Amino acid sequence: MPVVTRIAPSPTGDPHVGTAYVALFNYAYAKRHGGRFVLRVEDTDRARYVAAAEARIIDVLRWLGLPPDEGPGIGGDHGPYRQSERLAIYREHIDRLLAEGHAYRAFETADELDAMRLEQQRRGIDPGYDGRGRELDPAEQRRRAEAGEPHVVRLRTPDEGHTTFHDLLRGDVSVPNAEIRDAVLLKSDGYPTYHLANVIDDHLMGISHVVRAEEWVVSTPLHVLLYRAFGWTPPVFAHLPLLRNPDANKTKISKRKMDTSAESYRAQGILPEALVNFLATMGWSMPDGREVFTLEAFVAAFDLERVSLGGPVFDLKRLRNLNARYLREVLSLEAVGARLAPWLVERGHDPSDEDYLLDVVDVLRPRAETLAELAEQADYFYVERVTYDADARRRLAAGQSYLEDLEREFSRLEFFDDDAIDDLLHDYVQRQAVPLGKVLMPLRVALTGTSQAPAVVDLVAIMGRGRTLTRLGQALQAIQEGLPDDDPERLKAEAEAAAKAAAAKGKRRPPMPAERS
Ligand code: GLU
Repeated sequence: MPVVTRIAPSPTGDPHVGTAYVALFNYAYAKRHGGRFVLRVEDTDRARYVAAAEARIIDVLRWLGLPPDEGPGIGGDHGPYRQSERLAIYREHIDRLLAEGHAYRAFETADELDAMRLEQQRRGIDPGYDGRGRELDPAEQRRRAEAGEPHVVRLRTPDEGHTTFHDLLRGDVSVPNAEIRDAVLLKSDGYPTYHLANVIDDHLMGISHVVRAEEWVVSTPLHVLLYRAFGWTPPVFAHLPLLRNPDANKTKISKRKMDTSAESYRAQGILPEALVNFLATMGWSMPDGREVFTLEAFVAAFDLERVSLGGPVFDLKRLRNLNARYLREVLSLEAVGARLAPWLVERGHDPSDEDYLLDVVDVLRPRAETLAELAEQADYFYVERVTYDADARRRLAAGQSYLEDLEREFSRLEFFDDDAIDDLLHDYVQRQAVPLGKVLMPLRVALTGTSQAPAVVDLVAIMGRGRTLTRLGQALQAIQEGLPDDDPERLKAEAEAAAKAAAAKGKRRPPMPAERS
């Protein structure tokens, strides 16, 4: 039997990292076995439906390198892939269950169901539908339905015995049938419930392995009863562990505690390779213990039965570290340059000079963990002029004479390369008899506007003579301008002076009216 896996997200908002996680494991299992990976959109909950969500899920899957083989807008032999477009199929199957006596129409009103629940509470028994509609004669059910009386359709579940299913990761899971209530399959608005649509679609789409999150374990016995009612063989089930917050209680990841939107990691400049690699370590480890590996390597090694259930922690720090390793060690300079270029364009820069871009990446990538940080730091390599804040201006002013000298020396330097720049700076500090740092700091600030920048020789060499001299000119001009108007120290000094003047004035005797004229 061919391996066919799927994800079946409900389009209710931001694509969740949990969806990306489940997609990755489904994708890997299908690809490992030469099978297909299907995207089905479970959009029957119209109250929570968000129109753009489907396109965003597909976009995230493509970004991560996990494109579905079948799905809405993608095609395939088992469509439509949106449940809202399959209502006739569900209707047909419900008719079959009704005709064969596996399901019945139930007409209890909301008030009646409330009263039933209250009575159950009073008697201290578990709340849930008690099957009271089962006995209504099928002909009577049909007559009332045809007369337009609101109703749902429920599955007739057994009262005795157990329902057992085998979970690839958890072993046999068994539930007393008395605990499985006659669940609603078709709602009064004619829409199927999750259970009905999910089971019918998994069967008709030929899904061989249902690999989904742990929270669906409790629904599975009901699904198994449904498969039996239809006379179908259930797929293989595997319920993946839930991702956890890195807090003490290791609670399920939630929007309140952390960022759960897959898109937001993209917006932060996390690389898709790094996010995939990170998610692949949630409940899984490579047989050879490698921590950094490609999607291809994961697919080649993946084995569902080796997934461990010990509550994998979604640790952001680890994700950022892994991302940094991709930027620094795994991807080539050219690859990082290509990823960075759109970010630079976004910031209004022109990254078309490839040699320059690669030099910039080379010198900055040891200092950044994300593409966003890399792009931000690359600013000073691309802007026409950097801005000097008060701290920068103070540092520039302290090194004014060095900057003036270096402007002259750099303009005369014959070969403008690393070695020549390095020699020049060393000669210069020797002649001046000053420590190197005293010269390098104002020079670094002049070139970048900040004191937190890479080695100065690298900066000068990459920027080249033209940019270096322009920056030095701008820095010297900034020294002439002095401290900015909003400099806190300047404002403080001015306030103190004003206070002093006011105090001095207060001490003076006010002039006598007669003296004024
Ligand atoms: N629509 C369900 C969800 O949103 C699908 C669960 C399943 O995979 O069966 O997660």
